[in-house]
Amino acid sequence: MKKDLFSSSGIWVKGNLHTHTKNSDGLLSPEEVISYYSSHGYDFLAITDHEKVTAIKSEKIVLLPGSEISVGKGLLGDSYHILAINVEDNELLQKYKNESVQTLLNFVNKEKSFAIVAHPYWSKLTHSDLLNIEGYIGVEVYNGGCDVEVAKGFSTVHWDNLLSQRINVYGFATDDAHHYSDLDSARGWINVKVKEKSIEEILSSIKKGNFYSSSGPVIEYLSYDVNKIEVRSSPVERVDFISEGGSGLSVSLEIYNKIKRTKGKILALDKVEINHENGNETAYVELGNSKITIRTERGDITSVNLEGVNFKNYFRVEVTDHSNKKAWSNPIFL
Ligand SMILES: [Zn+2]
Ligand SMILES: [Zn+2]
Repeated sequence: MKKDLFSSSGIWVKGNLHTHTKNSDGLLSPEEVISYYSSHGYDFLAITDHEKVTAIKSEKIVLLPGSEISVGKGLLGDSYHILAINVEDNELLQKYKNESVQTLLNFVNKEKSFAIVAHPYWSKLTHSDLLNIEGYIGVEVYNGGCDVEVAKGFSTVHWDNLLSQRINVYGFATDDAHHYSDLDSARGWINVKVKEKSIEEILSSIKKGNFYSSSGPVIEYLSYDVNKIEVRSSPVERVDFISEGGSGLSVSLEIYNKIKRTKGKILALDKVEINHENGNETAYVELGNSKITIRTERGDITSVNLEGVNFKNYFRVEVTDHSNKKAWSNPIFL
């Protein structure tokens, strides 16, 4: 992720990198799927039918050709599902899909194409399974279909364990849509910062990690500079700073209200200051060298500033709103 991703010039485009059509086990035709996503405000889409490339062109949306390949076996016996993005050559894909996971990843992982490990939790992948392979740029931190169908949508633990080993992979939110009608669609997406809406720009920005994932909230700003972190988002209930092991910090409305009620006694804080301005509230909290400023608007958190907190190795930001929808930043390594 670029350090100045949120302040750099460019436009945000929204897309889903995991979806199925009638060409495999999806309910809608490729044309209907394209209409669904373009009418739901998406700028780009990868149709990733199982084991094959669905070749189609469209004027309505930027299409990244792709496929989802079941390949190899993890320690617990299930196969890896690999999203191959911007892979067009179906004949070559047929050749590589029966090889080992690593051989497939080597084929997919080129200058203009990339691989993502889909739904590690659903696939029963262990951390060793993910450490044993290389040449993928990320894992699905959230898969909408796996969430609504069997409550196995979140693979945050897999992601954090890789990051704690300093393996810089991105977290992708996707739909994995089969049924549509907003059941398993429009649930997880990425917002990518690009100079212009073109396939080349979208691919290169994703490969650089210049995006964040969401199932609802908007991350408006995130910056890091020598122990100073600033986050702004749409109104949320929690802002979590996830780092290695026991380091990290969770700022939630629940804790915020308890701090206010007990005037900081609950966490033995050194200082608590609450300021009001135009119906909004800003709390300034100090504990040792750590200084935290939390801004709330109409009772929801809209920004958190941290100073002097000691995170280890890396941190990433996750925000959660009242409907339990989330947004995930990519990691920043320290
Ligand atoms: Zn799958
Ligand atoms: Zn799928």
